[in-house]
Amino acid sequence: MGRTPIRALMLAALAALLAAPLAATVATAAVPLPPVRPPPSWIGPGPAAPVAPALADTVPPVAAAPSTGAVSPAAAPSEDGSAEAVAPAEPAPAAPSAGGRPRFTIPVTASAPAKELFGNVGVPAPLAARAIGFYSRGCLAGAKALPVDGKTWQVMRLSRNRNWGHPALIAYLEKLAAAAPGLGWRGLLVGDLAQPRGGPMLTGHASHQIGLDADIWLTPMPNRKLSTKEREDLSATSMLKENGVEVDPKLWTAAHARLIRRAAQDREVERIFVHPAIKQALCTSAGTDRAWLSKVRPYWGHHYHFHVRLDCPPGSEGCRPQDPPGSGDGCGAEVKEWLAKVRPRPEPATPAKPAKPKPPMPLSALPAECRTVLLAE
Ligand SMILES: [Zn+2]
Repeated sequence: MGRTPIRALMLAALAALLAAPLAATVATAAVPLPPVRPPPSWIGPGPAAPVAPALADTVPPVAAAPSTGAVSPAAAPSEDGSAEAVAPAEPAPAAPSAGGRPRFTIPVTASAPAKELFGNVGVPAPLAARAIGFYSRGCLAGAKALPVDGKTWQVMRLSRNRNWGHPALIAYLEKLAAAAPGLGWRGLLVGDLAQPRGGPMLTGHASHQIGLDADIWLTPMPNRKLSTKEREDLSATSMLKENGVEVDPKLWTAAHARLIRRAAQDREVERIFVHPAIKQALCTSAGTDRAWLSKVRPYWGHHYHFHVRLDCPPGSEGCRPQDPPGSGDGCGAEVKEWLAKVRPRPEPATPAKPAKPKPPMPLSALPAECRTVLLAE
C-alpha cells in the first residue's frame, strides 16, 4: 500500500495524456477521405467559359517557364503566346489514377485550379478523339499515346506522362520520324506532347492543352536506346552562340534545317515555333523554296527544341484554330524585330519587382465539355 498505487495511477494518467494527441492524430489519419466523385450536377454545363484571348505567337510571355529539355529553365520564357503565368518546375505528385478511372487530389469544382485536376489524371478519357477549346485553354478526349520507342524516335522525360496527343498528332509524329533518316537525321527525341486528358499542366507550358502541340528536340537521337534515367537526365543542346542572337555554326547543321522544313511542309501543320536566331538561319539557307517559311514563327525560347502545332483536325467540334500566319516568309523586318527583342540585356541595377503571379486557371475557364472529359471513365 502507500505510494505505489498512486504513483501508478499518476503514471497511467500521464501516459494517457501523452498518448491522447497521438491517438487523435492516428484516428484522423485513418478516417477514409470522402469520395471525390462528384454529384451529377458537376457534370452539367458550368458557368460560361471566358473567351480565351486571341493568341498570337507575337505576344511576349509574362513568366519564365521551363520547357522540355531546357538546360536553364529560368532563362526560357513560356512559349507560344499565352499570357498565363506558369509556375516553376517542381516534382509533380504521383498520378494516382489507375484502371481507367480518374481520381482526384482535390474536389472537382468549378473554381478548382484546372491544372491540379488535369495534372493528376494518369489515363486518357475513353471518348471519341476530339481536341476541345484552344491550344492554351482546352482539353483532349480520346487521346492516344505516342509509344515511348519507335524505330526512329524516342520519347524523353517519361516521368511526366506527357506523350499523349490527338491521333492526328501521333500519326504526324510517326510520319515525321519515318522521314528523318532520309533527311540526314537519325531520329527524333520527342519532348512534351499533352497530358492524358490535355488541359493545363502543373509545370511548364501554357499551351499543349488540346493534344495538337509537340516539342521536338534539336539534339539528334543517339544510335542506341536511352535508359529511362538517361531520358530524365540528358540535357538538350542550345543551338545559340554566346551572343544569344545567332545560331552556333558548330552545332546548327543543314540537317536541322531540312528537318524543320520537312516538319513544316505537312498541310495539317499550322505553325512551328523556333527561336528568332533559328528563323534567321532558315531564312538564310532556304534559297528559292520559301513558301514553308511562313509557318515557321520566331518565338521566345525554342533554341533547344522546336514546337509543332497542328490545325484543328476534322471532327474536332469546339476546337478553335489560331489565325493563320501571314503568307510572307517573315524573313525581313519581322525576324529583325524579334532578334532585337530576344537580344540579351545587361541586368538592371535595381532588379524589377516580380509581377504578382496570376491566380491559376479555374476549371470553369475551360470549355464546359472539359468537365465531361475530366470525369469520363
Ligand atoms: Zn512546346
